[in-house]
Amino acid sequence: MIIFQFLRLFFITLMYLGGYLITARISGRTRAEEQARWLRSYLVRMGPVYIKIGQVAATRSDLIPKEWVNTLRTLQDAAPHMKERQTIRLLERELGGPINKVFKEFCLRPIASASIAQVHAATLLDGRKVAVKLVKDYVPRQMHWNLRIVSILIKLVHLLAPSARRLDSPKRFEELSALLISQADMRHEAQRQELIYSNFQGHPYVRVPAVFARLSSSRMLVMEFMEGISGQNAHLVSFPRRRLAQRLQDTIYTMLYMHGLCHGDTHPGNVFFTEEGGLILLDFGITVELSEDEKWGLSSFYYACTRKEWDIAVERFTAHFVTKTDGLMKQWPSYSADIAKVLQWHFDSHTTRWSTIAYFKDVNAVLRKYGAIYTTNFTKVELVFLSCEGFATQIDPEIDIWENARMFTDRYSPYISPNVKRDFDAYFDKKIPSSLAMREMADDHLVAPTHMHRYFFPSAYPLFVRTASGSHITDVDDNHYIDLSGGYGPHILGYAHPAITSALCARLNGGFVNALGNDAEVHLARLIVEALDSDGKAILCNSGTEAVLIAIRLCRAYRRRSRVAKLEGHFHGFSDLGMVSSWFRFAGSKHRPQPIAGTEGTDHGTVNNTLVLQYGHSDSIERLREEASTLACVICEPMPSSIADCDKEFLQELRNVCTELDIPLIFDEVVTGFRVTYGGAQTLVGVAPDLTCVGKVVGGGLPCGGVVGSRSLIELARSSEDPFFDYEKKVFVGGTMSGNSLSCTAGVAALSHLKRHPEIYADLDSKTDWLANEMREIAARRRVSCRINARHSIFSLNFTHRAAKFYRDKLAGSNFKATIALAYYMRKRGVYLPELHSFLLSAAHTQEDLATIAFAFDKSLEEMLSDGLFVV
Ligand code: PLP
Repeated sequence: MIIFQFLRLFFITLMYLGGYLITARISGRTRAEEQARWLRSYLVRMGPVYIKIGQVAATRSDLIPKEWVNTLRTLQDAAPHMKERQTIRLLERELGGPINKVFKEFCLRPIASASIAQVHAATLLDGRKVAVKLVKDYVPRQMHWNLRIVSILIKLVHLLAPSARRLDSPKRFEELSALLISQADMRHEAQRQELIYSNFQGHPYVRVPAVFARLSSSRMLVMEFMEGISGQNAHLVSFPRRRLAQRLQDTIYTMLYMHGLCHGDTHPGNVFFTEEGGLILLDFGITVELSEDEKWGLSSFYYACTRKEWDIAVERFTAHFVTKTDGLMKQWPSYSADIAKVLQWHFDSHTTRWSTIAYFKDVNAVLRKYGAIYTTNFTKVELVFLSCEGFATQIDPEIDIWENARMFTDRYSPYISPNVKRDFDAYFDKKIPSSLAMREMADDHLVAPTHMHRYFFPSAYPLFVRTASGSHITDVDDNHYIDLSGGYGPHILGYAHPAITSALCARLNGGFVNALGNDAEVHLARLIVEALDSDGKAILCNSGTEAVLIAIRLCRAYRRRSRVAKLEGHFHGFSDLGMVSSWFRFAGSKHRPQPIAGTEGTDHGTVNNTLVLQYGHSDSIERLREEASTLACVICEPMPSSIADCDKEFLQELRNVCTELDIPLIFDEVVTGFRVTYGGAQTLVGVAPDLTCVGKVVGGGLPCGGVVGSRSLIELARSSEDPFFDYEKKVFVGGTMSGNSLSCTAGVAALSHLKRHPEIYADLDSKTDWLANEMREIAARRRVSCRINARHSIFSLNFTHRAAKFYRDKLAGSNFKATIALAYYMRKRGVYLPELHSFLLSAAHTQEDLATIAFAFDKSLEEMLSDGLFVV
């Protein structure tokens, strides 16, 4: 059979070549037209893999003659299709009966036909219009032989040409084959389409047809019918060409950089446009998937290039996208210099004439010199970039691909753009001169001038506060602001609340102690225990971080195991463990995350000793069961403040499985404790942990933390009065300042006031709902993609179209630049919003404050739009 296929290949090639040579002179067409016609016909005759090659070639108007492009382009949607009889037979087979059992109407003439499948318009019995994609009957067989023959040819070249061996072509072709074979499986395509559909849900201009999964099978995909203008006729769209091309590029970049799941075949037959400049993505047979690590590599590499940090860019590029690196590692300085030169040339000196193909060619030449090659996945990424450039330049030949890429990267970078920054610099120079002077002074002696400045996204204009009262703060330049930071949590009653201030004054006058018994410590413990666990006990400490450390030590002693399970995106303070997979960078797949350190300087033993689960994902429960015998405990934020949302069902499941497996469950309620209600998120959802960590509110604004819970666990930290037994069986918990009388006095005053005034919580809830709704309406009115989660005084705001369930999805695709900048635009209008952080209401915020905040938000969005922070 294989010999027959080779003979067929040989004779068809010969026949077409001969035919071309004979007719070329007499047809009257131009030479290029005649070549294109014969080539198209040859590819069709050869089968789906060759048609695919023709489709890809048609996107490269920069490489092949215009006549070829015009003719080969017809392969994108006007390739030969099945006869009607064949179509009916296939349909009946897939439907398991006559067509009219499912469809009211079915148009047998396809609206499009490409290399593998053809698409028909139809109407379901309930009247909904659908598109039905059918894998052509003869395609699987033809594809099988196409791939086998090409595979043999590649192996032959690999064997006979030693210089080509470096490319590892047979292995790469195998991977490509798998990709093409999966393209003929509509179940695979339906699954990808559903994922991409959900990634773009709510997007301002990208649409993906919804899949009718119940009607789909391996040979048939039924989806929502969407009308638009084919990418080949983009010139007919009245929307400005430049913006259309930019939108196409941005969309492809969004899929690659943000979603990590990208359409892998974006030729003009697979993208439709609407008159308003909308994009409809079709045909998800080929997709490119990037791991979290690759996404990180790609984004951080481009980021370094935009900042012209060539050495860092080379490191990132090599670490993430190059394989067979033995040779280059040995000659790193010269390799690094060679690649840096290429990067600098393309990303800096010659950006106005950016060419993706030239860039890849130059990088490839350097890699070849050192015996290295791209990873397979980066080869796919390369193809995506190439077809993106080909298509975008077909729409607008003048598009500046690099400038647009730079703008895209810049939009998601955490720093405000130079022009906007110039204006802010001028504004803040005048507005907060004393704060800026203090920043200079602080720089000499303090690691960073303010708390916020220490993190990844330092504040550009740190504020120094002179006085704070109620919902307001006043800076050292005498500017007043409505505060939404709430000191990152503790000040639920507002600043300088009389109940707390007077209690503190009394304690100050009488002298305060630490490490000695004091009534405030006992009272505070009683209040916390009664609110959270009437049967339990407490250990007090100085912060949320400490509370978590103590809770975990207790569990390790109880279980005599050291591995801890935590949830991705949940922050438990700044200890090594508390930060594992907690922010910014993630690893592993979404449903089975892998642990990754939250900061440099982390003990990697701790990272490896952490099991990371996904909050709200059923696989997490499964994994807990699998790993139960290794675990000391599970810790989670029941209502993660970063998303200000709660999954009650998941928490109940977690509780049940922990009880069943005798694994202590810790709720970190450092933020939510006594903020979301008197008690914590556990009180609201009715799920009780074994231990609860508290902090923030329980210190009334002074340093304090605590662990509360079952006696069997807490009493592990109580001496048995036998030092030998203590050493062998008990847990030591220290802290010179733990339970100090000043912090505890403030805590007792705060909690007692909250206990006496439960109406505070109802009031906070309604204020939260009012403000959140106002802000959502404002954003919708201004057509800014903005997601606001807000519950019980905690707000999480994100400039994104995506309603993400998981924290990593929330982070990927958020417009960081806009989120940070919002803080400064709000500040100009008298509202202090913490940069890139959830924000908080207090009991002291009045309705008037809320109205001012809403107004400031509206005006900020207006100015941000005009400053170009939301390009759509
Ligand atoms: N746990 C959670 C959920 C937190 O949000 C924080 C801090 O923000 C901590 C623990 C650590 O608390 P602290 O900053 O008091 O150490």
